[in-house]
Amino acid sequence: MDLLDTLTAKGLRRELPTREEALAVLATTDDELLDVVAAAGRVRRQWFGRRVKLNYLVNLKSGLCPEDCNYCSQRLGSKAEILKYTWLKPEQAAEAAAAGVAGGAKRVCLVASGRGPTDRDIDRVADTIAAIKDADEKVEVCACLGLLSDNQAERLKAAGADAYNHNLNTSEATYGDITTTHTYADRVDTVTKAHGAGLSACSGLIAGMGESDEDLVDVVFALRDLGSDSVPVNFLIPFEGTPLAKEWNLTPQRCLRILAMVRFVCPDVEVRIAGGREVHLRSMQPLGLHIANSIFLGDYLTSEGQAGQADLDMIKDAGFEIEGADERTLPADRAAPAGGGCGSVCGDSAESDGHACGGGGCGSVCGGHADADADAAAVAEAAEVVDAAEEALTDDARTDLVRVRRRGAGTELAPNA
Ligand code: SF4
Repeated sequence: MDLLDTLTAKGLRRELPTREEALAVLATTDDELLDVVAAAGRVRRQWFGRRVKLNYLVNLKSGLCPEDCNYCSQRLGSKAEILKYTWLKPEQAAEAAAAGVAGGAKRVCLVASGRGPTDRDIDRVADTIAAIKDADEKVEVCACLGLLSDNQAERLKAAGADAYNHNLNTSEATYGDITTTHTYADRVDTVTKAHGAGLSACSGLIAGMGESDEDLVDVVFALRDLGSDSVPVNFLIPFEGTPLAKEWNLTPQRCLRILAMVRFVCPDVEVRIAGGREVHLRSMQPLGLHIANSIFLGDYLTSEGQAGQADLDMIKDAGFEIEGADERTLPADRAAPAGGGCGSVCGDSAESDGHACGGGGCGSVCGGHADADADAAAVAEAAEVVDAAEEALTDDARTDLVRVRRRGAGTELAPNA
């Protein structure tokens, strides 16, 4: 197939495909799917071999968010019966992180719900980073705290954070359809701040929110232009009690095409299968490993993943290997995090990292809350909100596929790692 030969050749040269070529990947047929996976797999192996990087999520503060991201179970007015708790103590977070690291995770992602951190929150996260790095100095720490104010990225960098996650989530054109309490430009600004402070930019997307192929291509091209070092690809987890609870429109084949498109546009970038992996790829997860070089181990922020051991078994059975703490993730000639940019020939200089929570994975736009008073205010406000979330309490919730997290951080039960 000429298209795939062209995209493979470009990916091996780190050359940006055209928009038309990226759209054509999304339009391939099921008969062509294995060829698409094989072509993307060649590009993946060129830059990442057969290594799989494991990342582990620690939800530092769950629920109670004043923002209104439609995809998020922690949003204002969410009726989802998720765990709700305020900041974990540094030692509690470090204990959860250690479980992930013991399971093989190389990076720990510290996530907090809310609009963005206060300076006091940055202090808390700094203490948490110190506790994690005291236990194991090789652990990569990524913070995901929402929109950043001036100088907060620098403070996180000084505290030892390696990366900052803030997803763009969807195209600029449709951003207002999923969130009204902040803008696409706000997200770009935070990614830019993080990158400018020398933090590795982690910024990705959420597929399955009703977007068009053009929207998906737009956001992936934007992520490449921002210079994201890692791109989490979330597949919407339609949580009962959120406005997008009925958005069950992804198939495993669609997910694989999306992953392949991201790989072709970002050939030498860490492409991570994030939230929704088990829900939407299901038995096709191993094929996803031929395209992506990174996954989350175990559970997500508010939902449960498959058993951590099942993740490890899947990687081994599919012929891949866990990336070690001493192994470099990105190609050696790719720019270093600090101001580095994507490093692809593409030359995007920009930088950014957006992270947005996502329907599934790590990111939440999150981040934001201020303090206990603000938390209480948000809870009170949420209690009064009657919005689309109520209508989203459906009789056909896929409780067989979406399991609310009831273990790990914020509970007395051992984490899944
Ligand atoms: S994605 Fe983040 S900011 Fe948006 S509602 Fe969820 S926790 Fe809040």
